[in-house]
Amino acid sequence: MIPAKPLPAQPRRWQQLWREAVTDPLELLRLLDLVEHAQDLLPSGDTGFPLRVPRGFAAKMRCGDATDPLLLQVLPQAAELGDVPGFTQDAVGDLGARAASGVLHKYQGRALLIATGSCAVHCRYCFRRHFPYAEETAAANRWQLAVEHLRADASIAEVILSGGDPLSLSTPKLAELSAALAQIPHIRRLRIHTRLPVVLPERVDTEFRDWLAALPLQKVVVLHANHPHEIDDSVAAACTALRAAGATLLNQAVLLHRVNDDVDALAALSERLFAAGVLPYYLHQLDRVAGAAHYEVDDARALALVEALRARLPGYLVPQLVREVAGAPSKLPL
Ligand SMILES: *Cc1c(COP(=O)(O)O)cnc(C)c1O
Ligand code: SF4
Repeated sequence: MIPAKPLPAQPRRWQQLWREAVTDPLELLRLLDLVEHAQDLLPSGDTGFPLRVPRGFAAKMRCGDATDPLLLQVLPQAAELGDVPGFTQDAVGDLGARAASGVLHKYQGRALLIATGSCAVHCRYCFRRHFPYAEETAAANRWQLAVEHLRADASIAEVILSGGDPLSLSTPKLAELSAALAQIPHIRRLRIHTRLPVVLPERVDTEFRDWLAALPLQKVVVLHANHPHEIDDSVAAACTALRAAGATLLNQAVLLHRVNDDVDALAALSERLFAAGVLPYYLHQLDRVAGAAHYEVDDARALALVEALRARLPGYLVPQLVREVAGAPSKLPL
């Protein structure tokens, strides 16, 4: 008799879409009718951080517009190759804050778990372009160590899954981790920092909703959208599903030159987020990572933008303008 082999797990639809992401800059430019400008738009050398963008996110970009605010977040640019003083590899001091394998414990009561190094989209301004994920993720065989660290410190009431993008893990893998967390009596909240519901809303599938709804912890999902064009009907539907599963939804954005350093764009972002059931949480000043200097907005202008927002919107739609400073006890308001 032939022993029955376990069936290989079916790839989920979101996983297929993930794999079909655009990774060739020329293909992206072709899709957007910009390929004739490739010479001007693309860097001449290797940036060390490959392009990656899900097709659904690319479809929200305007054809023929090299200044599209979504395109500018993902397209490798020549400016990344220059060395700019003050812009470094570990801008937020993460390498000094490791507490255990894959755990960053910088702030009181909250510990952040680097659940995975992968992301569905590669954002050019991200600190992750330099982070040594291969050594630092808590995933796979090293969850045990991370969970032990959380169990041993009763001051930790909230666990933040971050990365990379923690929703790049399969739902069964998340379930395995959350089952271990739910066993720890002092952990009351699970927070998930993710861009996936924005760049690949198909990730919020039935399997995922069921897992989230059944989770015996308070749940917070912090999304990451920078521009109102990122939030279309399918993203709004994913948000509705997350809320129906019991999650409180917040958004963090990064203030980015030419992407959203504009009061109309920021106001529209807050309005669209709220229409989708999401409250703006943080507006981050850029982390000064090497290769991202061309996205920086100076503090005076950042403050003026937020003042202008405050004059236009209800207080609950104005995000807190913050900066991450290595060694500080929290994100610092400007
Ligand atoms: C940003 C961050 C948090 C969360 O900070 P909040 O102000 O609670 O959103 C927690 N841990 C680390 C290591 C962080 O970088
Ligand atoms: S960690 Fe977030 S901001 Fe950075 S590349 Fe991944 S999705 Fe983009």
